[in-house]
Amino acid sequence: MTIVQEGDAMNWIERESKALIQFYRRQNVVFVKGEGCWLYDENGKKYLDLVAGIAAISIGHSHPQFIRKVSEQLQKLVHVSNLYYTIPQIQLAEKLSEISGLDRFFFCNSGAEAVEAALKVARKATSRKKFIAFTGSFHGRTMGALSVTYKEKFRKPFEPLIQPVEFAEFNNIHDLEKKVDENTAAVILEPVQGEAGVYPADKEFIKELFRLRDEYGFLIIFDEVQTGFGRTGEWFGKDHFGVKPDIMAMAKAMGSGFPIGGIGVTEEVASKLESSEHASTFGGNPLACTASLATIEVIESEKLVENSKKMGEYFRKRLEGLDNVSSVRGLGLMIGINVENAPEIVSKALQKGLVINNTSENSLRFVPPLIINKEEIDYAIEILGSI
Ligand SMILES: *Cc1c(COP(=O)(O)O)cnc(C)c1O
Repeated sequence: MTIVQEGDAMNWIERESKALIQFYRRQNVVFVKGEGCWLYDENGKKYLDLVAGIAAISIGHSHPQFIRKVSEQLQKLVHVSNLYYTIPQIQLAEKLSEISGLDRFFFCNSGAEAVEAALKVARKATSRKKFIAFTGSFHGRTMGALSVTYKEKFRKPFEPLIQPVEFAEFNNIHDLEKKVDENTAAVILEPVQGEAGVYPADKEFIKELFRLRDEYGFLIIFDEVQTGFGRTGEWFGKDHFGVKPDIMAMAKAMGSGFPIGGIGVTEEVASKLESSEHASTFGGNPLACTASLATIEVIESEKLVENSKKMGEYFRKRLEGLDNVSSVRGLGLMIGINVENAPEIVSKALQKGLVINNTSENSLRFVPPLIINKEEIDYAIEILGSI
């Protein structure tokens, strides 16, 4: 089922098919504008956006405060590299320390790059080689991040990848126990698995993971690329478990759509790292850091972490009331459900003005802007109920 697009849209879709490497299977729509939780196509048709650029547009599209701050910085200074000091980068690191409890930071430009940095730092800080990741994991598409990503289809064509990597069953402490040893540099996990279909880690599992760390001396990397910045109803996914990972990777919502990523580490990990061991040309530039600072300011002033928790509960409750929906799960505004024929629901919803996305043939994921309100959720439920 596809939307029949007329005129200009058809023209752009045709041009895309000739000009771009065909890595993406896109929905049949050309978006030109966004405002709050809403997107607009070329014909002015309005859509409620429950994808938010894949959990990225946390404060909504075109937030006035974000636009003002980023525009001011754009006019002052965009980029000078890390050969010099710049103010927004220092301010952002201090702010992140306050909201995350991690001690020191490094900035890059995407989630995969953050994971790369985390893996390199783990090897350097431990002088060990082995990584353990989990079934269902997704950590990105670069060679290192891909090495700890579970899906064979993503990995196979690019082997040999980083070794040794072992995959333990997610939320199964006995399986993990069998795989960790004195050669393990780090265990990497998502506190809520996103691409797998929104599956939170168990409290007991996380507790035991930290016990194993103390026993074997490996590091724990939390990949918070998708769960960070209020998505789950806490500032970070780790906060649901009351733990401090050794390394935390961040990106997606960090700049509310502006590309920026980073890692936070403990003082102890930072003390094992030396100059020139890692770097990025664009990472931490004044414009990206200002976008992230503006994002965090809006999350704080509009109490969006609380809104994520409250609206997440409301959304899950409403989803539970729908026929043909099962296994409603998630934390805050990171929600997964099971349905029959998810791709068909995605394209039908789009036609009706609702932007959603599926993580498999039978599961849908909802990661709307954290500013979403009850009326907008009701609008989504009405459309989902009518399909
Ligand atoms: C999206 C994602 C990544 C990769 O981020 P990119 O910015 O696409 O490189 C890594 N880890 C998790 C958990 C993600 O959801």
